[in-house]
Amino acid sequence: MYWRVVLIVLFLVVPVQIFAQGKQNWTSGGEMDPLQARFTVKHYSLDIEVLPRIKGIDAAMEMLFETKGRLDTIRLDLIMNYKVLKVESEGQELDFRHQDDLLDIYLEKPTNRLKVFYRGKPPVAVNPPWQGGFTWESDSNGHHWVGLSCQNEGAKIFMPCLDHPSSEPANGVDLYFKVPFPYFVASNGRLLNQATSVGFNYFHWATAYPVNNYNINFTVGRLYEKSEAYTSVSGKRIPMTVFVLEENLNKAGQLLEVLENSVRTQEKYFGEFPFSDDKIAVVETPYLGMEHQTINAYGNKFHFQDIGGVRFDWLLHHELGHEWWGNKISVGDWADIWIHEGVCSYGDLLFYLDHGGQDAYLERAAEVARNVENSRPLVGEKNATMGEAYHPDIYTKGAIVLHSLRFMLGDEVFFPMLKSFAAKEEFSYNNRVSTDDFVNYVNEFAGKDLSPFFETYLYSTDIPKVKVNRKGRDRYDISLKGVGLSLPVEVLTTNGIEKILISNTPVRVKSDDMVVIDPNGWYLLDK
Ligand SMILES: [Zn+2]
Repeated sequence: MYWRVVLIVLFLVVPVQIFAQGKQNWTSGGEMDPLQARFTVKHYSLDIEVLPRIKGIDAAMEMLFETKGRLDTIRLDLIMNYKVLKVESEGQELDFRHQDDLLDIYLEKPTNRLKVFYRGKPPVAVNPPWQGGFTWESDSNGHHWVGLSCQNEGAKIFMPCLDHPSSEPANGVDLYFKVPFPYFVASNGRLLNQATSVGFNYFHWATAYPVNNYNINFTVGRLYEKSEAYTSVSGKRIPMTVFVLEENLNKAGQLLEVLENSVRTQEKYFGEFPFSDDKIAVVETPYLGMEHQTINAYGNKFHFQDIGGVRFDWLLHHELGHEWWGNKISVGDWADIWIHEGVCSYGDLLFYLDHGGQDAYLERAAEVARNVENSRPLVGEKNATMGEAYHPDIYTKGAIVLHSLRFMLGDEVFFPMLKSFAAKEEFSYNNRVSTDDFVNYVNEFAGKDLSPFFETYLYSTDIPKVKVNRKGRDRYDISLKGVGLSLPVEVLTTNGIEKILISNTPVRVKSDDMVVIDPNGWYLLDK
């Protein structure tokens, strides 16, 4: 997801939120429920009829799971907007209790599958994607256009699930849709089957990979597609598709070109597109955007920029970057969400580097640095909910941490480090990643201990203070105050830019004029 405009919007929507819909403050994550810690989800199969006319859904969710020992209760999350009609396991009906957004299902004998039938009116998104839910929109021809967003709320707002970032279905999801004819449904993974019968369209999508709950997604509309086969950095042919409304069909070619430019650039720095057995795709949505795996939401209205002669869309590029940072590499605790947003936002800077050159990159990095609020540490308290962990600095300061690392390590170490981190099996797909994993990996790869740097910039709001003392006519003593840190920095003197290591102990440099510390802006420094 992208930060932009959310602060303004929070003030605007609060009264609406209170008066319009009752409870709408769901979030996901936090401390794992002890009952939920006792089983692991293997697969979700969601069969859902979307009813745009009455703004409702009628659905069944079948879950495959493994238990740790004998369990008599399976606890799922499902908001109270829905009425649970029935729960079945292997043809047998089970007792259940649906209360306080929790669905407790009582097992009579050991099983590894159950199916929940439910229906109701989903919450309407207040300010998608930041305050999500369903968006029941119409396109300019008056046709239904339905979007879903729930990064903050979690998937429990549309299906029963174990709604925690540490839980991804190892064997992916199957998604069956029923919508009125002639509507189309764009969703995750591959479209395996499509049928029409007595006034309805049916679609079966399936993913070949695990997926974050909040990335299980669909958009309903009179959508049209434009596709091509993309050849990945390692030579694999991957279907690449844009789904747009009919009114924007004439822009689909440009959107596809923008998508290809961004995939190419992301692959250069982060390795092959991570879901090559599924697809690369964006769908036009009635809200700004979201990183839904292999079906990124795109609502930026085709406002393309030109960077170094290459067509670019900041929103599309950012959401696509999450395919590596967020979808392939996922955190298990929202406390570490800066890895999703910060590294992904750094990837936004790399488009400027790759196509606009170093000056364009540095200029953009300086803009990002100016927006750092530094109001709280990047890494949250352990077992954070999304609501607790999400703040603007996970984007801006997170990106600048990577930017500083690039300078500290040098391009010949930094870029291979980032790419190899994204390729590590122990941090990706079925495995979750943490800030400790990242810090340890960087230290090991670089062969130096950068822990004081990470302590300062990830775990505190301290900004190192640079002190410059003039000594005589043309000498300056430079030191860092207040933190037990040493940083390699650039210093502009009358002899040009010198690179020196500064710490508590002053370092003397010679210059006829006042020196400028870190003139290219590689760090957040108080100077
Ligand atoms: Zn994002």
